Amino acid sequence: MKRDKLYLGGRWAEPDSDATIPVENPATEEVIAHVPAGTAVDVDRAVAEARAAFPGWAATPRAERGAVLGKLHAALAGRADEIARTVGLELGAPLKIAKAVQAGLPLTVLQGYADLAATPAPEETIGHSRVEHEPVGVVGAITPWNYPLHQVVAKVAAALAAGCTVVLKPSELTPLTAYLLVEAADEAGLPGGVLNLVTGTGAEVGAALAGHPEVDMVSFTGSTATGRAVAHAAADRIARVALELGGKSANVILAGADLPKAVKVGVANAFLNSGQTCTALTRMLVDRSFYDEAVELAAAAAGTYQTGDPFDPATRLGPLVSAAQRERVLGFIDRAGARLAYQGGDLPEKGYFVPATVFADVDPDSELAQEEIFGPVLSIIPVDGEDHAVEIANHSRYGLAGAVWGPPDRALAVARRLRTGAVDVNGAAFNPVAPFGGYKQSGVGRELGAYGLAEFQQTKAIQL
Ligand code: NAD
Repeated sequence: MKRDKLYLGGRWAEPDSDATIPVENPATEEVIAHVPAGTAVDVDRAVAEARAAFPGWAATPRAERGAVLGKLHAALAGRADEIARTVGLELGAPLKIAKAVQAGLPLTVLQGYADLAATPAPEETIGHSRVEHEPVGVVGAITPWNYPLHQVVAKVAAALAAGCTVVLKPSELTPLTAYLLVEAADEAGLPGGVLNLVTGTGAEVGAALAGHPEVDMVSFTGSTATGRAVAHAAADRIARVALELGGKSANVILAGADLPKAVKVGVANAFLNSGQTCTALTRMLVDRSFYDEAVELAAAAAGTYQTGDPFDPATRLGPLVSAAQRERVLGFIDRAGARLAYQGGDLPEKGYFVPATVFADVDPDSELAQEEIFGPVLSIIPVDGEDHAVEIANHSRYGLAGAVWGPPDRALAVARRLRTGAVDVNGAAFNPVAPFGGYKQSGVGRELGAYGLAEFQQTKAIQL
């Protein structure tokens, strides 16, 4: 299918303007598709469709909504290989990660919401009040490029399960996987207007959606700077916002930790998706008593990351998403002002590649330690004891995620002191139904699982 239409009211629709946006393969620098450059007029059309569809979808019994989401899951699962390939092409994600994370995770999340919607909500009473949860209304979903389908599904599946209708604006850098979702929704028989797609730039489509008087809630994932603009736009009409923003997460390695494992897993986490992960553990905080050994281990681990063609099975680091992103990351590396412990070489001639890079002796106040870099760059910082580790970990305007390694009791105690929305202790795996979101400038609200669904609900008290 050509990607030259929008999806409005359950039909593929001509965009308002002939203008298009090129989609580039960042590994080859070739243009692989064009998508419509939507306009504010298209946003108006999409919001009107979502508004018209809202009463019917909100009134649809939860179990029926769950059944439709189950069909959507089946239709999307049938496209799993195509999703992985598409994310490989538009983002440059290495195929193994594309399959497991970029395609696998959204399918898990979607199935979870189909199940959750199908589960009857427990009756809740407080004294003589009955408490009910109702859908918020029309949701504007604005998403970034780094996990293009996961970030879309985390919003769309939760909103639809709650009974909301959605206008989706995916990132203009990676809009192609959103088309696969909408195709699957069309095949699954999602009622018209329940999910609408408007592609386009943030300045035009994103801003129109965030500021639209008929959008009851804006669910945004992206940079903190844009999140601030979205929150301002929504504030004028007191619309609800959920913001999943940036991060600068710490990986705290305490005395008594399994050091080789902590470092190896920490490096893998920092380099996942070429470092373009909001929860990336980009600051490794290591006790001075075993600091030199940790730096050596990190440099050795980084040396095992092969950079290159995302479709080569040996590749672990693909390119960054765009030329602008590469320039930004190379700028941070140039200005680093810290000891270079490792830097990879042998990059392909074409493509927006950045070498795997590890800095040691990083000043906790420096740009390197404070700014979200969004590339394969790890900063190692020495600390003196647990209190100091906690102080440095919390010395950030972000508060998205973190990790602690050490004896279980000590590690749990330190995890509780970190001012972040999530902490992994001793390498515990990501949980796709646990609440996900940030403290401080990492965001407002939670995604995933039951907490993610609740974000799209209003709470009503009926006194009897
Ligand atoms: P971005 O803020 O540039 O763009 C995100 C989305 O917002 C895109 O769809 C973009 O078109 C749109 N947008 C841009 N300007 C807008 C405006 N004025 N009004 C409305 N929408 C607008 O972010 P990005 O570069 O696509 O993504 C990278 C950022 O996302 C990183 O900072 C990363 O940490 C963050 N992120 C956060 C999470 C999380 O869950 N916390 C997850 C992934 C990425």
